[in-house]
Amino acid sequence: MSTSKIPVADSGAFLQIAEPERPRQSRREPGFAIGIDLGTTHSLVALAARGAEARVLTDDEGRALVPSVVSYARPEPTVGHPALADRPKFPTRVLSSVKRFIGRGPDEIDFRHPYQLVRHPGDNVVRFDVGEGRVCSPIEASAEILKRLRARAETELGRPVSGAVITVPAYFDDAQRQATKDAGRIAGLEVYRLLAEPTAAALAYGLDSGRSGYFAVYDLGGGTFDVSVLRLRDGVFQVLATGGDSQLGGDDFDRRLAADLLRAAGVDEPTPAQWQEVVAEARRVKESLSECDTVTVELHRSPLREHRVTRAAFEATIESLVRDTIRTCRGVLKDADLSTDDLDGVVLVGGSTRVPLVRRLVEQAFRRAPLTDIDPDRVVAYGAAISADVLSGSERDGVTLLDVVPLSLGLETMGGIVEKIIPRNATIPIAARQVFTNYSEKQTGMSMHVVQGERELAADCRSLARFELSGLPPLPPSMARVEVTFQLDADALLTVTARELMTQKQQSVEVKPTYGLSEAEVNDLVRDSLDHAREDFAARDLAEARVELGRVVLAVRTALSEVGHIEGLLSEAERVQLERQLGEAERLMSDGQVEATAINAAREQLEQTSGPFARRRMERALNANMSGKSLSEIEQVLAADDETLDERRGGHQAEQIETT
Ligand code: ADP
Ligand code: MG
Repeated sequence: MSTSKIPVADSGAFLQIAEPERPRQSRREPGFAIGIDLGTTHSLVALAARGAEARVLTDDEGRALVPSVVSYARPEPTVGHPALADRPKFPTRVLSSVKRFIGRGPDEIDFRHPYQLVRHPGDNVVRFDVGEGRVCSPIEASAEILKRLRARAETELGRPVSGAVITVPAYFDDAQRQATKDAGRIAGLEVYRLLAEPTAAALAYGLDSGRSGYFAVYDLGGGTFDVSVLRLRDGVFQVLATGGDSQLGGDDFDRRLAADLLRAAGVDEPTPAQWQEVVAEARRVKESLSECDTVTVELHRSPLREHRVTRAAFEATIESLVRDTIRTCRGVLKDADLSTDDLDGVVLVGGSTRVPLVRRLVEQAFRRAPLTDIDPDRVVAYGAAISADVLSGSERDGVTLLDVVPLSLGLETMGGIVEKIIPRNATIPIAARQVFTNYSEKQTGMSMHVVQGERELAADCRSLARFELSGLPPLPPSMARVEVTFQLDADALLTVTARELMTQKQQSVEVKPTYGLSEAEVNDLVRDSLDHAREDFAARDLAEARVELGRVVLAVRTALSEVGHIEGLLSEAERVQLERQLGEAERLMSDGQVEATAINAAREQLEQTSGPFARRRMERALNANMSGKSLSEIEQVLAADDETLDERRGGHQAEQIETT
């Protein structure tokens, strides 16, 4: 049975609704909310605490970008660079680009990938067999990446984060947004807001430079292309139109160049290992060509000696792909009802906008040099961090965010026709309602099919959910009045309710997403991850305790070795006691079973015992050096002393201390 639509006075009326109550207000603490750019290729976490400038958090080695790769080849899921290293050996157990799969059904995966899909009857979630009986969805893999970023932030903050803003491509539909939000929950994050990536970029630019007007945001990443037109006015950002391609990015440049290289090497059917090597090398060559005119290819598995690729040849290879993105840009400008002359700027986002051809064609198409002052890899994370800071309750100069519905939302009606209820580019949050009627008098139920997309036939749109409205009174054809309300919250997440108007019987319906994990499944995963979070915290405490104790041991050892020859600084009894405590501390640090509390106790004891000795050293130094000197001279000497101490600690040690 289907619904059939009759025209009614208020059909399709928009009710602008207030932003929903913020849940758990108590956890919104200014200063402890993070912004996350959950990218297809790379992910980043940034912090903009209490109105401060946003900064991206790095790992011990100073790297900001975390490869969005999760390895299930080890006992515990591993994320980032180590996972990348596992990939050649375990191609099906190391998941990358999971963002391409998130919120999609197994039948929608129409692109090449090396993974083993697992299908359960009636289950519409993509799941991969990642070895040793383990099955994992893209949502869980994304949650692993988010956990890693959260841990990075918590190490930096020294306490749990209060919440996060996670960015998603502007055209992500409801299922993809739901899935991303679920990943956040599984990672133990309160997701304040899902923010469209171009909006985040505009936010970063708008605040940093105080510009206003119309802007286009051109985002070409590893796996996705996304272009949006925004209006910036009085600190308010409004997305006017969006478009893009979720299956186009720098990875495609790599694959095209890789195919060229294999052709040049005379390899028709590469082995998986060969293909992987060539793709990786193609990426290196591509990235170098952003700086150099010619790059020499180095392959070990394919016969290609002294082969050189010029920038011109590379550009010829990828030009049609870049032109596709330009065509999309024109369409989006048209959607926004603007010409290139109306634009005040074009913002470049994503690593692939470093390719000179991309910059050139974008400049040509928009007839102006694009803005590149903010690092295109980081700009989205900065914007997310600023938004998180605002949502956590910080005062910031009147930043509000208006976003739009990326794709129209509607219901399937008789004959498989889509009735659009919320049109594309409507500003969210929003609610809209439509009245439907019965088709035959025997009809006591209606089956509702919620779809998203621009096509006229439901079969050509994205199926979001189905639900059944039952218990309708048997009424003559076209007499029933069923009012369906679509409500979109600020994250563009949809709630659908239906009400029978003739009987005034309110029927609330639960919408089950067509793709995505069930509520129960998400809750199980959240519980699992909370158990792990406790372990994660313990591990971090332990690591910090070790570093601290190591620092004190080194300082005391250094002092002991230097003052051995100076009379009266240290009694023999003190020396014996210190040596004993140093020995004990070193034993604790090398023992894998010891807990953080024991290590901290040892450090405190050592600090206490060595305290009088340290004071005597200081006094001796002052007396020896300072007699008859002015205060500023004394300060200079002390400063010099600090420097030499730092040098003695050595660069590595100093770095470790800073990052904990
Ligand atoms: P995503 O948003 O999809 O995670 P990123 O914005 O991190 O992606 O972009 C990753 C892509 O950018 C990769 O395809 C990478 O090869 C490409 N890239 C990074 N640096 C350069 C460069 N210097 N020249 C060309 N491409 C680059
Ligand atoms: Mg990106």
